[in-house]
Amino acid sequence: MSNDAKFFSAADFALLARGEGPLKTLQPPPRLAIFGDPVAHSASPPMHNAAARARGMDLQFIRILVSPEELPGALHNLAPAGFLGASLTMPHKQKAMKMVDHLDDRAEIMGAINTVSIRDGIIRGHNTDAPGFAAAVREEFGIPLRDLRVLILGGAGGAGRAITVQCALEGCPSITIANRNPAKGESLATEIRESIGKEVASLPLDLENLRTTLSSVDLIINATPLGMKTGDSSPLSEGLLSSHHLVYDTVYSGGETTLLRQSTEAGARCANGFSMLLHQGVLQNVLWFGEPAPIENMRAALTALRN
Ligand code: NAP
Repeated sequence: MSNDAKFFSAADFALLARGEGPLKTLQPPPRLAIFGDPVAHSASPPMHNAAARARGMDLQFIRILVSPEELPGALHNLAPAGFLGASLTMPHKQKAMKMVDHLDDRAEIMGAINTVSIRDGIIRGHNTDAPGFAAAVREEFGIPLRDLRVLILGGAGGAGRAITVQCALEGCPSITIANRNPAKGESLATEIRESIGKEVASLPLDLENLRTTLSSVDLIINATPLGMKTGDSSPLSEGLLSSHHLVYDTVYSGGETTLLRQSTEAGARCANGFSMLLHQGVLQNVLWFGEPAPIENMRAALTALRN
């Protein structure tokens, strides 16, 4: 998913913070950005620029290529450059937590931030991926996340951990994570039990464990990267899904993943990560502007990228 692959450098951004360089003359003036490495593929600029146009705001959202070494400087330059905040993507979501002045209560346990906002020069860190996921489930299946028994494949990874914590905070009736590295899964389950007081079952990601678990699960979430590349296998073996399952694949890179193909063949309702991408962006937009976001304009901008 991409439109034009234009991006600026962290050095250009440092110049803007000093009132110089190529970003100073950009029109509309840049006031928001995504920091990532790589960043050229990001769908965030068209989505947030559609929101700015719908609100009649004279500003734009740009891509800035920021390496891990450049991240502290780029975050520090946000306020002097007159920015409202930034979106963070790989590889910055975990490390940025230690570089902000203030963290949302929930971001700490989620283990990652994907959004920063600037208020009175203070850099605040937020996680909108997880509540965006909950909103996506509601939109796709018409059922609140809190009513579903969930199985999270890759539940101890970056996005998986945030989703698992969101399920715990919402009070899902049962939560199981299946992680390739079971020690990471067990450690997260202990952390959630101690900090939120919610039981999470942790399993290795293998056929026999999943076969017995799936009969008592409503919603299966893929939070592994399997499906991002054409030809990727599914995190689930063939023949495990049934028509009563709901399947949410967080992958949004386009095309039908093997997991979504398995779901359709089993008669299960399924959705890809497009709606999570939209809803995490809507929540970011609300944080930056403090008012409801023009969701349909943002959705249309993302849909145009897919077609
Ligand atoms: P990550 O931090 O690298 O975590 C990956 C997780 O998947 C880990 O639990 C890892 O297990 C597991 N894993 C990796 N390769 C695997 C394999 N071959 N077989 C089984 N398990 C495997 O990645 P991430 O940043 O969380 O991204 C995960 C997915 O979330 C991606 O598909 C991404 O596109 C999606 N995502 C979507 C949105 C959205 O808005 N739709 C937002 C964020 C992320 P170990 O712990 O054992 O290494």
